[in-house]
Amino acid sequence: MNYFSTRDKSLKFSFKDIFLRGLAPGGGLFLPTEIKKFNQKELNYLSQLNYNELATEIIFNFCSGEIKKEELNSLIQKSYSSFKDKEVVNLKKIGEIDLLELYHGPTLAFKDIAMQVIGNMYDYLEVAKDKTVNVVVATSGDTGSAAIAALSNRKNINLFVLHPHNKISNIQRKIMTTIGGANIYNIAIEGSFDDCQKIVKELFNEDNFRSKINMSGVNSINWARIVCQIVYYFYSFFKLKKNKISFSVPTGNFGDIYAGYVAKKMGLPINKLIVATNKNDILQRVINTGEYKPDTVKSTITPSMDIQVASNFERLLYYILDESDSKVGLLMNDLSSKSLFNLEKKEIDKIKKDFEAVKVTDEDTLSIIDEIYKEHKFIIDPHTATGVGAAKSFKSLGDIVVLGTAHPYKFNDTIKKAIGKNLDSPKHIKLNIDKKEIFDVIGNSNSEVKSYILGKIQ
Ligand SMILES: *Cc1c(COP(=O)(O)O)cnc(C)c1O
Repeated sequence: MNYFSTRDKSLKFSFKDIFLRGLAPGGGLFLPTEIKKFNQKELNYLSQLNYNELATEIIFNFCSGEIKKEELNSLIQKSYSSFKDKEVVNLKKIGEIDLLELYHGPTLAFKDIAMQVIGNMYDYLEVAKDKTVNVVVATSGDTGSAAIAALSNRKNINLFVLHPHNKISNIQRKIMTTIGGANIYNIAIEGSFDDCQKIVKELFNEDNFRSKINMSGVNSINWARIVCQIVYYFYSFFKLKKNKISFSVPTGNFGDIYAGYVAKKMGLPINKLIVATNKNDILQRVINTGEYKPDTVKSTITPSMDIQVASNFERLLYYILDESDSKVGLLMNDLSSKSLFNLEKKEIDKIKKDFEAVKVTDEDTLSIIDEIYKEHKFIIDPHTATGVGAAKSFKSLGDIVVLGTAHPYKFNDTIKKAIGKNLDSPKHIKLNIDKKEIFDVIGNSNSEVKSYILGKIQ
């Protein structure tokens, strides 16, 4: 399978290239030259499979020629063996809501579903065989711990995780800073998630530094993560047995919901993909008005969605702009020179064919958690609650599956605020959050991060 950059179609890459790099040279994102579209007969076949078999069939389309199907299947089985549910995810009916629980992996958020596979792919693709790979990743709270759980103590791999200091939940931080081995470095940056993501992108674009440390990335802009997330859209569609469904997705970096867009391109009969945002509503604004204008990041009770630069949106733009790499490049230039870009009416209309978007405030999120607890004795995390809120706004669409993105325990302070009750830690996952936390606080600057990394690896 070949890949190209959203900003330069003439550049060609293999799956292994894009897996290792994450970000294309010049700042674009990778996309595959072909997206397989399943016909009805193939969809019928896929609907009979268990989760691991389905994951193999779907992921294989994006790495064929480089990973053998049987080996991909055993890699996937190994990746999901630590999950609570043998079917990896769990579709539940809570009153009228169809909830897809994606948080039964080792660090209690949907990030585990892609990251566990990615961890094993590092070994399989032998990217760290001859030379140590240094993975650098920015996190809004959940990617970091999922990456640590996936990469801890792997040979010839170091992992540097940048999180925004004091801007993630206590449990998110505790999980992240207590589970890692000696190859893990937690860095708290005095800034926002957008600052962390910006630093990581800058480091990737500095060729000297990147090659000096043999740098790799596992942020949600890494295509391999998106590919793993396509699977549960198919899985839940087959479980629900309806002709057409919509999905409501708590959204930050536009990665998870973009996987739904690819699923639709692959022939899954998805009606609408509903973007749920918090106060950091850049995606809601661009989808409803056409203006993409990052604002300052505001802290909310859904910290994993406290993002103003939704990187994966560039992957949608590529298709909206008639697959023109130069048009994507022009808008991205506007974004860096004028701090915004504008879409035309016909482009907004195109987006609206597949997407809806709505902002859910903290107040609404708290009352949704409380309401669901009172009515159904079921507790959802605040991110998932924004998905429930967004689904309510689009009831007229018919069947909607809400993606449950994190276990409520990760946000127990907010849950207590919503329902006045403390949560116990989940029994199936072994967390050691009373252990001493290990992390360093450093300034919000590219050069400080670089010297920190060089200091640790020399
Ligand atoms: C990462 C995350 C999101 C946002 O996902 P994106 O792929 O960045 O849009 C939503 N909820 C939770 C709990 C997350 O960890």
